[in-house]
Amino acid sequence: MTTAKSYHSIIIGGGHNGLVCAATVGRAGKSVLVLEAGSELGGAARNREFAPGYNVSAGAHLLHALPSELARDLDLPGHGLKFAGQSLPTQALSTVGKPLRLGDRQVDGSELSAADIAAYTRFSTAMSRYAATLLPIFQSVPPRLVIETWAQKFEFMKLAWQLRRLGRRDMRELLRIIGMNMYDLLDETFASDRLKGALALDAVLGAEWGPRAPGTVLTYLYRLAGMAGGKGLGVAQPLGGMGAVVAAIAASAKQAGAVLRTSARVKRILVENDRACGVELESGETIRAENIISNADPRTTFLSLLGAAHLDTGFVRKVHHLRASGRAGKLHLALKGLPNFTSIDAVALGDRLLVAPSMDYLERAFNPSKYHEYPSEPALEISIATVRDPSLAPAGQHVLSAVVQFLPYDAGADRDRNRAACLEAILVVLEQHAPGIRNLVASAELLTPFDIEQEFGMTGGHWHHAAMGFDQFFFTRPVPGAAQYRTPVDGLYLCGAGCHPGGGVMGIAGRNAARRVLEGAR
Ligand SMILES: Cc1cc2nc3c(=O)[nH]c(=O)nc-3n(C[C@H](O)[C@H](O)[C@H](O)COP(=O)(O)OP(=O)(O)OC[C@H]3O[C@@H](n4cnc5c(N)ncnc54)[C@H](O)[C@@H]3O)c2cc1C
Repeated sequence: MTTAKSYHSIIIGGGHNGLVCAATVGRAGKSVLVLEAGSELGGAARNREFAPGYNVSAGAHLLHALPSELARDLDLPGHGLKFAGQSLPTQALSTVGKPLRLGDRQVDGSELSAADIAAYTRFSTAMSRYAATLLPIFQSVPPRLVIETWAQKFEFMKLAWQLRRLGRRDMRELLRIIGMNMYDLLDETFASDRLKGALALDAVLGAEWGPRAPGTVLTYLYRLAGMAGGKGLGVAQPLGGMGAVVAAIAASAKQAGAVLRTSARVKRILVENDRACGVELESGETIRAENIISNADPRTTFLSLLGAAHLDTGFVRKVHHLRASGRAGKLHLALKGLPNFTSIDAVALGDRLLVAPSMDYLERAFNPSKYHEYPSEPALEISIATVRDPSLAPAGQHVLSAVVQFLPYDAGADRDRNRAACLEAILVVLEQHAPGIRNLVASAELLTPFDIEQEFGMTGGHWHHAAMGFDQFFFTRPVPGAAQYRTPVDGLYLCGAGCHPGGGVMGIAGRNAARRVLEGAR
């Protein structure tokens, strides 16, 4: 069956990037249709009732990278987006004493020396300044490496100018550290193991390597750039969970005229005369459009939906070799009451909590994943969202979610047993901080990267759809020939986390892709 109506743009996937893209195209007065495979919109940014009455942000649980001007442009507050908390401090938990409390420029903790406290202010100020330098790069469409026009030359000049503006001393320091690993940089800056552990976890959250890997200073700066170099919302908890962010973006897209369909899985992208011209759904329905924009990850888009026959072999090889094996898992606990974390009071339980007592702890948690094994003591980023937003669970009850680093992509026959053993190991770690928490657990769920792939349709279960290494970054993200959101096939674009600037709930890839489509790329 062919649907008679033809659209300006079809977007494959209703993740938050697909929805931002739809809202942007719709606001330009163009007809746009979003086709989402799942029964709900939002992809890895949606909510899920994982146990009766207990709602959780199913993938992403803390918002830190959504640009405020994007929220303003799409009028997300007007479409219901509210926050249960903004600029949440980070509490680096301890089993023996008070935690460290990390704020924007200040760190508190009785175990810290005066030298470390002063060094933190210097370090966070300098890193935010470097991140602010990267911000325009972070938010823009990467320029092409082949410079043919004055406009392209201008893009490069803008990049150089950003760096130059830092001044000679800072520019030299940024160039010294940017290729370093976070382990060495933190070791030369601080003495406290817990402080170094907390900062190092920020560099590797969602990544597939430990703090000793080259490029981890870059990923740390990247995280800060996503936080607008310290001028954004900070770490925020959306009221109603991450699903509320998606609901607001979807409402904005609808108001702009976008048609949003769920349970509409695209089976293949149709190509005529070397140009993408429509899609065929699993139901057999075909729909035509001038532009096809894929929010699905690059491997799914090129190898499953488009097909290698439409691409040259060199390009297909690059897509095959794209590194996209996730190592972040997700824990959800339904709790019959508020757990008693011995080191912090009940109010601070609503902050961002970290179990990353040292960089060596992180390295030890990372090492087994290299051999497809599970860590015995995983690193955790915990949010107990119900402390600030009781609407997510039945009265008096709570939901704890945690990003769990580093779990292997395990599709093996023993995966159920391995997952259960890993859940047990996490509960042992949590018991050390909150004795008795195990007795409060009404229901528990651990998603490994394999489960995340199944649940959200992200190849490899990777947070960023593709690793954020130097080789898959900016000009070359996801692969050379498909940066700048366009692809080797005319009329086919990418708009998801696999594009620049990568994953995280920020909508920049969706917005940039829409702009490329509207300006008619090429
Ligand atoms: C465990 C975990 C924790 C995370 N925590 C955080 C966090 O705390 N903060 C943060 O900022 N980020 C976090 N992230 C990262 C963030 O969730 C993702 O980077 C982001 O949601 C990606 O958005 P997207 O729209 O690009 O892609 P996705 O969310 O992956 O959306 C893609 C959509 O395309 C759909 N699709 C795929 N194939 C088809 C098809 N054939 N037909 C139709 N539809 C299709 C999928 O169903 C999906 O809805 C986390 C990720 C994970 C996995």
